[in-house]
Amino acid sequence: MKVAPKIAEAYEKARTTRLNSYSPYSKFKVGAALVTKSGKFITGCNVENASYGGTVCAERTAILKAISERETAFSDIVVVTDAAEPAFPCAFCLQVMAEFFDPETKIYLADTEGVRSVHKFKSLLPKPFGPMQLKTAKATAKKKN
Ligand SMILES: [Zn+2]
Repeated sequence: MKVAPKIAEAYEKARTTRLNSYSPYSKFKVGAALVTKSGKFITGCNVENASYGGTVCAERTAILKAISERETAFSDIVVVTDAAEPAFPCAFCLQVMAEFFDPETKIYLADTEGVRSVHKFKSLLPKPFGPMQLKTAKATAKKKN
């Protein structure tokens, strides 16, 4: 699909970063590129681990890199795989996205040929667990005491 120049640039960065994937177990290489609201690009690839549980997806790698660089506001993320149908972010990644993405943040799904679809974050995780639930829990605890 045709995308804005900013997204095309993010796509190229995600596609290139995918090649850095450390995925000796699944052989499933994923690249991601975040676009910050300040116009920067922050990339990530999946990094697998022999423990399996220590594996980090490309989307989370990019988000954690961004946070560690004090970038906390994002307009878009492009995710590139070579799957027959471009892969959606996993539930772990959606939960981490919920911490930092706006409902309107766009998630572009792509393969090695180009961007295939775009989704607003709120459509992929319409009812995220977030800080409001923690506030509610504390309010309930105080009432009981
Ligand atoms: Zn994931």
